[in-house]
Amino acid sequence: MTSLDDLPLRDELRGMTPYGAPQLDVAVRLNTNENSYPLPDEAVAAMEKALSAVLRELNRYPDRDAVALRTDLAAYLGHGLDQSNVWAANGSNEIQQELLQTFGGPGRTALGFTPSYSMHPLLAAGTGTAWVDGRRGADFGLTAEHAVEMVRRHRPDLVFLCSPNNPTGTALPLEVVEAVAGATDGMVVVDEAYAEFARPGTVFALSLIQRYPRLVVTRTMSKAFALAGGRVGYLAADPAVVDAVQLVRLPYHLSALTQAAARSALAHTAALLSTVDAVKAQRDRIVDTLRGWALPVADSDANFVLFGAPRGDSKGTWQALLDRGVLIRDVGLPGWLRVTAGTPEETTAFLNALEELL
Ligand code: PMP
Repeated sequence: MTSLDDLPLRDELRGMTPYGAPQLDVAVRLNTNENSYPLPDEAVAAMEKALSAVLRELNRYPDRDAVALRTDLAAYLGHGLDQSNVWAANGSNEIQQELLQTFGGPGRTALGFTPSYSMHPLLAAGTGTAWVDGRRGADFGLTAEHAVEMVRRHRPDLVFLCSPNNPTGTALPLEVVEAVAGATDGMVVVDEAYAEFARPGTVFALSLIQRYPRLVVTRTMSKAFALAGGRVGYLAADPAVVDAVQLVRLPYHLSALTQAAARSALAHTAALLSTVDAVKAQRDRIVDTLRGWALPVADSDANFVLFGAPRGDSKGTWQALLDRGVLIRDVGLPGWLRVTAGTPEETTAFLNALEELL
């Protein structure tokens, strides 16, 4: 049997484990922040029609520049953006990898603030970019002063901010993004995968793009649009950033099927996003119920909640919930667990199972 050790693996990949939450076949799956609601009939019907038209043309490569999709995404985002500001790929993970390939790489550094999305340092490793962890406060908060101090100290080529932050759930005040953008010569990537779930009053970095040419906002159709299986993520930035990313993107990276499915979804934005309020209601129900049980709970602007496990036993609680048919996420923060807000029934199943463990 050949093992990884027998292969001429890059040194920085030795000993690493691939990213991935368990994909277990259990009744209630609340571990990957998917949207629990299946796509509405009207969107499915439109996709079927669009995909069958594309099927006949699969002998041809897709539009390499995905112009129609980027035009639709820009219209969805608003803020005076057009297709020249938008680039799309197979999930926002691919977008972030392209940004690291373009602006990071050997001899360059990316700065992030953990606990945050664990793919950011993994994508840095995969592109040979050094990773510096600027860390968040004990309350998981990130102040402008701390962020700017870390930027001045480490002089990164890229800064990763995540708002709402995964796994903690809370959105960043815009002052933090602006302070970082004003303090660095590098690129600032604001990962807004969960933007659509934010509580009222939250302002997002899209509004800053016209003023900061090195600011990039990444978004995804995997969460609010319930299109995780479709694999569509995108960025919004100055057109020069979109031009720069062309230097590393694979030709024809986004299949004609993906582009067509995403455009159909965007044509049914209202129907697809109609689940967002229902998800937010379950999120708030989880926050309120757990606080009522005196468990520590982080504020959430996302479709998930980070909470302190009973008696601080995150490993035991995770397993005990799984034994009761409820799969949530151990994000590797001792004492804490993350649960996705699902349907009312899924949320009830989670709350009932957790209550048994109090
Ligand atoms: N950013 C954050 C913060 C996420 O939580 C996720 C999904 N787990 C992603 C990006 C990637 O999502 P996708 O590649 O499906 O767009």
